[in-house]
Amino acid sequence: MEEGRIRILPKEIVEKIAAGEVVERPASVVKELIENSIDASATKISIFLKKGGIEEIRVVDNGSGMSREEAILGFERHATSKIKNEEDLYGIKTLGFRGEALPSIAAVSRVVMNTRRKDDIVGTRVVIEGGEIKKVEEIGCPKGTSISVRDIFYNTPARKKFLKTERRELGYIIGIVEKYAMLYENIHFKLTHNGRTVFALPSGNFRERVSKLWGKDVGKDMVEIKKEGKIKISGLISRPYLTRKDKNKILVFVNGRFVKNSFLTNCIINGYGTLLFRDSYPYAVIKLEIEPREVDVNVHPAKLFVKFHDESLIEKEIRDSIWSTLTSLENIPKKEGGKKAFEPMLSPEVKREKQMIFEVEKKREKRIEEFIPKMRTLPYEVLGQVDDTYIIMKAKDSLVIVDQHAAHERIRYERFLKQINERKIQELLNPITINLSIKDYEEILAIKDSLKEYGILIEDFGKGTIIVRAIPPILGRNDVKEVIRDIIDIGAKYVIKKKDEMIKLISCKGAIKAHEKLSIFEMEELIAQLLKCENPYTCPHGRPTIIKITIKELEKMFKRKE
Ligand code: ADP
Ligand code: MG
Repeated sequence: MEEGRIRILPKEIVEKIAAGEVVERPASVVKELIENSIDASATKISIFLKKGGIEEIRVVDNGSGMSREEAILGFERHATSKIKNEEDLYGIKTLGFRGEALPSIAAVSRVVMNTRRKDDIVGTRVVIEGGEIKKVEEIGCPKGTSISVRDIFYNTPARKKFLKTERRELGYIIGIVEKYAMLYENIHFKLTHNGRTVFALPSGNFRERVSKLWGKDVGKDMVEIKKEGKIKISGLISRPYLTRKDKNKILVFVNGRFVKNSFLTNCIINGYGTLLFRDSYPYAVIKLEIEPREVDVNVHPAKLFVKFHDESLIEKEIRDSIWSTLTSLENIPKKEGGKKAFEPMLSPEVKREKQMIFEVEKKREKRIEEFIPKMRTLPYEVLGQVDDTYIIMKAKDSLVIVDQHAAHERIRYERFLKQINERKIQELLNPITINLSIKDYEEILAIKDSLKEYGILIEDFGKGTIIVRAIPPILGRNDVKEVIRDIIDIGAKYVIKKKDEMIKLISCKGAIKAHEKLSIFEMEELIAQLLKCENPYTCPHGRPTIIKITIKELEKMFKRKE
């Protein structure tokens, strides 16, 4: 390089660099154009694609339209009608505001825009290629705006190379349109690819939209969630048994804007608590309305990411509303308060401050909790056991199978949680002494105080021996040595930090095993207790406890019906 190594880049290159931030692929063009149509109060938006949008994207709306001056100005960088000053930037209510989309799209494609305002007699046509205005003329056209974007990246071959196949690009576009269609059920959306209709969604109610896009079966099995307050939450979430293996059907919108945000996605998943099976995720479309000043949308050129000022509040609101919605469903009995099952424990600090008063229970443990004579209220008729592991039942409209071990784990887990909350312990009339290696002995004594929180009281008996004076009522005397061993094995870190793991570990000791013969009476009792659980559907480790095969499914299996 000769002289002057630093130089100001020519305008065209600057334009292309800036465009790259907004326009990554045809789907980004579709996103920006739809957002503009929505901002222009359109009630119908039609998207016509050719070759996955690579050849042409045309978005037609019936929104406000633009005057001739606006139509030209719209293609200038940072020209926007949506904000005026810095103050506005902190309270954005429109989807656009950066004034970057039209110029960015025009910089890397050939654009023709027709637009007319309602009261104007003639409309305006702007032809612009590679960012250069070629023609502006008067034209007769319907009210609203139609923008055609052809040959994306024709002048940036390096970017064009990164485009995927037509199908993949179409897939991305469908994903984008789907999101806006979910969000704006009052807008009529139409998507056409190579002349074929992909979907036509007349305006309607929200559940109809979900059903149209995700299928009737999904739509029908979603429950409504609604919460007013500092943060408004509304939307539809799937019942716990309606899940999928990926998180792709968890959509979150913040103030009318779709956002990619793993924090929010996780808040929703966490809202299900232990209701979800392992590696399964719900369907959810959740709309959040937050005071615009509480979120910053201006952190990403495509505005896909947002930042929140108070994440913990948002997390709590989402989690609580999902949990209380799900636990109030008819077939999931609710424990008062609707608290999340796995976090009712107080922090160690709070606990230490409060005087540790244990209510001492001197009852003998029983495999299955005391039988209180009661009316037969089971919705199922227990038929028997298969492989001494699976309980087979008949219900009105289904065959129901329960994994006895998983079910008992769930029952014991919830019972143990309750005992911890109520600070119940079981004092041993004959304390148990356990001899340990010096390392284990030191280790367990070091966490002696933390163990109290779980109802385990141990004392130093000297010379590598500890004495266990009390255990949680859920445990039997015979389980004690094994539990102490397990606690040493998983380590002090768990005892102090991973309380939920500890609770699972203790409560699963002594659960009915697989391949254990049970009487019908025991099975009935087990099922009755399972159904009383806050979450009867999964064991604490996330495996299913109950599997239902409906008559419909049986009919399919036997090819009686399609
Ligand atoms: P932004 O949306 O951030 O304001 P854009 O570059 O996307 O920036 O659009 C620039 C301006 O052009 C918008 O502020 C709006 O006034 C106008 N505009 C764009 N698309 C439409 C449309 N479909 N209908 C009416 N006006 C539009
Ligand atoms: Mg815009």
